[in-house]
Amino acid sequence: MKKLPCIAYHASVLIICGHFAFANNAPRPFILQEMTWVDVRDYLKKNDMVIIPLGSTEQHGPHLPLGADFYEALEIAKRISEKTGVIVAPLAFAGYSESHMGFPGTISVKTDTLEQYVFECVRSLIAHGFKKILFFNFHGGNNIVQANLIHRINHTTSATAIAIGIGGTIRKDVPADAYEKFFDWHAGLGETSLLLFLTPELVRMERVENPTLQFRFTKEPQKMKELFEKNPGLAKVWEEQIGVPEQTGKGGASHEFSSNGIWSLNDVTKSNAELGKKRVDAMVQSIAEFIEEWKKSGSSN
Ligand SMILES: [Zn+2]
Repeated sequence: MKKLPCIAYHASVLIICGHFAFANNAPRPFILQEMTWVDVRDYLKKNDMVIIPLGSTEQHGPHLPLGADFYEALEIAKRISEKTGVIVAPLAFAGYSESHMGFPGTISVKTDTLEQYVFECVRSLIAHGFKKILFFNFHGGNNIVQANLIHRINHTTSATAIAIGIGGTIRKDVPADAYEKFFDWHAGLGETSLLLFLTPELVRMERVENPTLQFRFTKEPQKMKELFEKNPGLAKVWEEQIGVPEQTGKGGASHEFSSNGIWSLNDVTKSNAELGKKRVDAMVQSIAEFIEEWKKSGSSN
């Protein structure tokens, strides 16, 4: 068969794949750095949304990569892009991770610095015509930065920003109590399962060891659930005291209360890719549905 000339070939692909928003052969997911300015110009004729993954580079126990949160944010955002055709623009590898500085390799950026950096990146995107900014955060330490960014974008620019990941209400996940024994916040069963599904080549399961945890609030972490059920206010105090920098003197830095950087009372050796897949599917589905609703609403920003 005679080979079609390149332009004709692309045109025929366009006709077959009529759902492509712009005239190029860029495969989904759409990652900004992998596109050309021509692709972005054509995308903006049909769509004004951009997903910005936010993560961190911080210790995640002896078995998960330092970039766990970055990879989770990026890999899940890519799956949302595959489903919705929305561009993903990764801007930062690091986040605010002061509490983890006791472990080698952790990189922490001050909240003001991170906010200013991301804001300037977003300002560039807005200048080109992006109007709907969707932050897909996957690191709790970034919540304050994300909240400030959203407020600043919404109150000082023509764009509308919203949180679709951690720190927002759009994302639906497998309910934590389906697998979590009260406390499984960092590098635990839930997160290890996510990465066993998303980036199994980066997980060293042979190194997993359940941590010894020691909080100043109570010497017996296993009894905390009982205590907090009786006194929910105390749970709030405890939550405020963990994940804080060592310099605060609260004993809430990662290396002060966890023997190996894992924050979990679960049996982390039971982590599995099936749970990870269920979690990813639930998140991608709920966020994709929201994106389609926002697209359909006809809102110009
Ligand atoms: Zn994490």
